[in-house]
Amino acid sequence: MAELKLSESRDLTRIERIGAHSHIRGLGLDNTLEPRDISEGMVGQVSARKAAGVILQMIRDGKIAGRAILIAGQPGTGKTAIAMGMAKSLGLETPFAMITGSEIFSLEMSKTEALTQSFRKAIGVRIKEETEVIEGEVVEMIEALGKEKVQSGDVIAIDKVSGKITKLGRSFSRSRDYDAMGPQTKFVQCPDGELQKRKEVVHCVTLHEIDVINSRVERNKMGNAGTQGFLALFTGDTGEIRAEVRDQIDTKVAEWREEGKAEIVPGVLFIDEVHMLDVECFSFLNRALENEMAPILVVATNRGITRIRGTNYKAAHGIPMDLLDRLLIISTKPYTRDEMRKILDIRCQEEDVEMTEDAKQLLTRVGEGTSLRYAIHLISAAALACQKRKGKIVEIQDIDRVYRLFLDVQRSTQYLMEYQSQYMN
Ligand code: ATP
Repeated sequence: MAELKLSESRDLTRIERIGAHSHIRGLGLDNTLEPRDISEGMVGQVSARKAAGVILQMIRDGKIAGRAILIAGQPGTGKTAIAMGMAKSLGLETPFAMITGSEIFSLEMSKTEALTQSFRKAIGVRIKEETEVIEGEVVEMIEALGKEKVQSGDVIAIDKVSGKITKLGRSFSRSRDYDAMGPQTKFVQCPDGELQKRKEVVHCVTLHEIDVINSRVERNKMGNAGTQGFLALFTGDTGEIRAEVRDQIDTKVAEWREEGKAEIVPGVLFIDEVHMLDVECFSFLNRALENEMAPILVVATNRGITRIRGTNYKAAHGIPMDLLDRLLIISTKPYTRDEMRKILDIRCQEEDVEMTEDAKQLLTRVGEGTSLRYAIHLISAAALACQKRKGKIVEIQDIDRVYRLFLDVQRSTQYLMEYQSQYMN
């Protein structure tokens, strides 16, 4: 198997679809896991946040690998916001992967491959630097180059095949030099102060990142394959990964674990709209959760009793009984007027929109009558209407204008009912 060159690939799984949830910075809990009234962008939904906090604590204590949690509640009650809050509280070390049920079907790969990739994006491997011998050689090489020639902070490149040493100094460019010199090159930054003989460096990567890089290296043995794999992580164009590559990686990781060189860090896989999965996907999830490296699975749905996709049976949330039975369920509840008002306040701040007190009250009433999400959408639209009339602060007239311009679901349905005959069926 090709050598793993992964230290720089961390964080890629965290390029998340935020925007709507950019104001959420955590679950807003105090040290005793009690939800603060408004904190880290979170408002209300107290018992769901508390339950999510208990789960976070269990994750941190390493107690619930392979468990699954269902967040169930009506549309717009903050299920995704709570999952985002969990992700933000976990910190960078714990991988968090997020997909929606329907994405499984739209990617150019089989359902099980898409699910496998998602699972492996949520399993971290903490690898301790296992190149102690090379470190020793590196130190010797730095010394051979002459201390006066290299200073702390300089980068030197060592060709592991020919042994050739090149000093790149401070003009080292990650993208250019990695590309030009190929995967057989080791790049070393001269340490501060005295050159150390041994240095333990810890890299955190996900199994998926290891898969992608090694899968590309396998396909193209012409030199800069490592870079191609690296690019595939950015573009998401990873294609299907062969089972043999994964088997090799699992065996290698198991070896490292036995030798004490690596630890598994189970992360969180969040699947939104879980009712969009079909019965085959559900049995895949059941099996995948049995794996000893399985991440914590958090799923969310806004469906009640509905048909399980791929069958004629109905079940709670459209999830088969055997999977439902192993889920810890957190439920979210509709917001009170006061909570809705506070969320709208936070969104106004987040979107940098100034609004009069009257306009905010009207917007809250609109939210109560329609949905929180509709009211949130009106904020930026009303700001544009205000700009157009050369106003500085959004007023009632702007809310009124955009309320007439954009229909909420109720009014759109009513319109459809009235004019149904003129539409195609
Ligand atoms: P759906 O079932 O339609 O997917 P959902 O339950 O996942 O909905 P969200 O998307 O989380 O709902 O919530 C709608 C909007 O309201 C988002 O912008 C979200 O960040 C915000 N929001 C929801 N609940 C809260 C909360 N408790 N505190 C702050 N913001 C919230």
